[in-house]
Amino acid sequence: MPLLAPYVASRDSDLPGRTSELTVEFGSKGPRIAYRNTRSTDRDHHGNLWVRVRESPGGRVLYDCMNPQRQRVCMERMLCQVCGGPADRNEQGWLFLDWRRADSPPTWPERSITSMPPLCAEHARVSVRQCPFLRRNEHAVLRVRKPRLHGVSGTVYTLTARGWHASENDCLSAYDEPRIPGLLASRLHRELRRVTVVDRP
Ligand SMILES: [Zn+2]
Repeated sequence: MPLLAPYVASRDSDLPGRTSELTVEFGSKGPRIAYRNTRSTDRDHHGNLWVRVRESPGGRVLYDCMNPQRQRVCMERMLCQVCGGPADRNEQGWLFLDWRRADSPPTWPERSITSMPPLCAEHARVSVRQCPFLRRNEHAVLRVRKPRLHGVSGTVYTLTARGWHASENDCLSAYDEPRIPGLLASRLHRELRRVTVVDRP
């Protein structure tokens, strides 16, 4: 069976936004990162600024890299990361695949914090069969009753005399903690609660 091109995957024709598009906005809580030309979709409900990606047609699929905009849409709306259609849900909850990571909680898969969006039943089955990453790692097929929106992660920029300077990658910012003023978000995370491990999708 040919490999699918997942909806959520980046392409090598996706271009990152330019640092020159960034500016400083002064609010009641001090300076924060912003775009010079603002768009309504730049910030999420929690006020985090999201990275911009310029997409052009064509391009090779990068299987190990997610497009930030499509990842956000899938996670927000509970769409399948492979086809972009509704993710599967039954009486045990939403369908997710997850694997144990170095920073997974001892309760894993319960309370796992993930940036991998859910799946429809068909594409969960295909992913378990095809994904070399899943085959190499301890993974589980999960039904999740409460996949709570948890926060965002991305690159933290520090304000210098010459503007914003990227200082830390993959920094996780939970919604229940104070917002990081220099964070440019590129992933939306959910915490998997009330998890049931199932044999197959
Ligand atoms: Zn699907």
